[in-house]
Amino acid sequence: MRVADGPWYELRPAGPGLSHIVERHVAPWMRCNMWLIHGRDTNLLIDTGMGLRPIKPEIAALGEKPVTAVCTHCHFDHIGCAHEFDHRLGHAAEAMDYATPDLVRSCASSWIGAELLTALPHEGYELKNFRLTPAPLTGHLDEGDVLDTGDRVFSVLHLPGHSPGSIALYEKATRTLFSGDVIYDGMLIDNAWHSDAPAYEDSLRRLKELAVEQVHAGHENSFGRERLHELIDCYLAGGQRLGDPAAWVAEQAP
Ligand SMILES: [Zn+2]
Repeated sequence: MRVADGPWYELRPAGPGLSHIVERHVAPWMRCNMWLIHGRDTNLLIDTGMGLRPIKPEIAALGEKPVTAVCTHCHFDHIGCAHEFDHRLGHAAEAMDYATPDLVRSCASSWIGAELLTALPHEGYELKNFRLTPAPLTGHLDEGDVLDTGDRVFSVLHLPGHSPGSIALYEKATRTLFSGDVIYDGMLIDNAWHSDAPAYEDSLRRLKELAVEQVHAGHENSFGRERLHELIDCYLAGGQRLGDPAAWVAEQAP
């Protein structure tokens, strides 16, 4: 496989004060969405990718203002670059997974396959040697906490199920939800080693009651209220669940 030419990360405007960052050479079916909220005083980076290359040198906007990295949960595809940031927030239930991440606890061992990359981050890179850099949380987020960028306010929702410390950020003023892996427009995962399907159902029932118009999720495309309710209803009826990761990865591979 060739080495990536040009940047690893790509930033796209995604609305007022919001940018969407992706890892260009991680397969679209696996890569996480990173959301950069441009606040008046501080910026928030929601999720940080796999960490295959440093992100700060490539994304100029990350150097403009203080950045707080907010991890929606501890999985390998969301926490890879967290260590680059001085301020790292996540839920206390997964504190150990940020401080001492390993391939099993981060779910990397279930999900990483040779087909995951479309180019190498650097010469000689081998995905079988994938490791995460420890990124101990510098602060904990829990239900009801508020993140204030100076001109925008985001409430923290604790929505366990996919993982015990899964959180989402909700901006009431714009009815926008940054949902991490709690909900995205794809098959949901409720069978990782620390998943809890009944808790997942409760979390999704909660989301259905929330006044949401726009969802920016941890994977796949953003969507609106109607699709949110469709996805939730489908899950609650027993569908929309991914099942065996190995079989699913094999299906996605080109
Ligand atoms: Zn996840």
